[in-house]
Amino acid sequence: MKAQIKLFKIFGIQIGLHYSWLLIAVLIVFSLAGQFGATNPAWSPSVIWGLAIITAICFFASIIIHELSHAAVAKARGLPVRAITLFALGGVAQIEKEATDAPTEFWMGIAGPITSAIIGLICLGGAIALGWSVAPAQQSPAAVMLGWLGVINIALAIFNMIPGFPLDGGRVLRAIVWWITGSESRAMRIATLTGQVVAFAFILLGLFRFFRGAGFAGLWLTFIGWFLLDAARSTYAQHEILGRLRGVRVGDVMSKQYSTVDADAPLQSFVDEFLLRTGTRSFVVTEDGQPLGLITAHEVKHIERDKWPQLKVREAMLPLTKLHGVRESANISDVLEVMGREDVNQLPVMSDGHLEGIVSRGQILRLVQTRMEIE
Ligand SMILES: [Zn+2]
Repeated sequence: MKAQIKLFKIFGIQIGLHYSWLLIAVLIVFSLAGQFGATNPAWSPSVIWGLAIITAICFFASIIIHELSHAAVAKARGLPVRAITLFALGGVAQIEKEATDAPTEFWMGIAGPITSAIIGLICLGGAIALGWSVAPAQQSPAAVMLGWLGVINIALAIFNMIPGFPLDGGRVLRAIVWWITGSESRAMRIATLTGQVVAFAFILLGLFRFFRGAGFAGLWLTFIGWFLLDAARSTYAQHEILGRLRGVRVGDVMSKQYSTVDADAPLQSFVDEFLLRTGTRSFVVTEDGQPLGLITAHEVKHIERDKWPQLKVREAMLPLTKLHGVRESANISDVLEVMGREDVNQLPVMSDGHLEGIVSRGQILRLVQTRMEIE
């Protein structure tokens, strides 16, 4: 989940929005305004809409705080967190590494629901102090807002504790199984399997409610189930792939033979004569035989076409100094992590400042394929 709209940074963590969030933000403001208007007919439209917008903003802030609590545990346990992104179905904290022990996974998972429950209780306490009650009655806007935030945050805490991966409860389940059995893969299998069962249950319940006339709310539940199913499946697949790559080192899969292109070659002729002719995806850029950087279709794509004739390859390449070089002895699973983080498909293999070869995602995938065929 990549944020398309970047908001601000908290503790070095980029907070951002995915486009799909805009849809849910509008839906929430409209449904809140409808709800407030129906239960408090005496309020003026400006009070109703103002309150709906402020309540929605506080709701999204509480989701960010929920994600920040996951991030805080991750950071305290040495797992870097890059960003928190809000999207249509909630928030995600992008934690760059998987937990390496069960207690970390447990606390990281449970921190979110605990935080939401605390926020919910504080809001409900404030609402009750201001005269809020469950039954619609004459209430102040602040009481109505706090009451809604209290209920929704407690609902969020409960929902997130459903033990289906990738929900927080699924992570907690995974941690507990991991703790008891000592086997991380078995824990992952069980957690992703219950995740798929929960997801199917959501889809069926959503469809059932939809056909019973619940309309959008039913479809929404189905949509959440479909998203969870996809996430549980892909997490499992990824875990299987990493399992098959255990023990494989960069030196085993890297290619020592790579194609080169001169740094001063015109970009246009590089595209015409190398990229579009040879089928090779990545080239090492050299000057007097010394490697300077890498260039792939990816870099070229990001430069406007009409600039190609004026530029040289060196102006479009990724300099080696900027690329995260890996060592021959590094684990392939770590390399995949770096590729994901830097959003690249190949990395230079370096030793003492020398380029030893290139390791690419394609090679790693071919190895996985071969291993799956043979095993
Ligand atoms: Zn969470």
